[in-house]
Amino acid sequence: MNPVESLKAKVRDIPDFPKPGILFKDITPLVKDPASLRLAVHHLLHPFLGRDITAVAGMEARGFIFGALAAWELGVGFVPLRKPGKLPYNVQSVSYDLEYGSASLEAHIDAVGPGDKVLLIDDLLATGGTAQASCGLIESLGAEVVALGFVVELEALGGREKLAGYPVHSLLRF
Ligand code: IMP
Repeated sequence: MNPVESLKAKVRDIPDFPKPGILFKDITPLVKDPASLRLAVHHLLHPFLGRDITAVAGMEARGFIFGALAAWELGVGFVPLRKPGKLPYNVQSVSYDLEYGSASLEAHIDAVGPGDKVLLIDDLLATGGTAQASCGLIESLGAEVVALGFVVELEALGGREKLAGYPVHSLLRF
């Protein structure tokens, strides 16, 4: 088995989390293992090395883990996209629909701006709602989203279709 595929064994299925009927993919075993973490970050970033990227943005909370490592590796800064009320300075917000209800993400108004070329990183792509809203948030600040990277993609949920028009790279597809 190729080494990247072998990382799938480090993603644990948790039935009925956070709600009955949901099968949650838990990436903490992968993050805990030094060799797996290094391999995942290396391959996640492979398509983006040498690209003109000025910042990495990551979605709260697990996007911070891989996003910060990605920024470090690419030699650029990291921008946290946070749940409402967490950021201390003036914020730009975006709301988006969930299966039941809605959610919001915020960024500082000076986090990125015109001329910035942003790589968006999250742990997992499911329906694509979070990622689509994050693209809108970055663009509302005048920056460009050059690509998105995910450690895990749940293909059956169709997130990639929602992100049509953006280059999407995922490492482990289930
Ligand atoms: P989406 O908006 O439906 O694509 O959901 C993706 C967001 O929800 C990401 O920020 C993920 O961290 C989180 N998420 C959804 N399902 C899972 C899961 O099974 N494991 C880990 N995170 C998940």
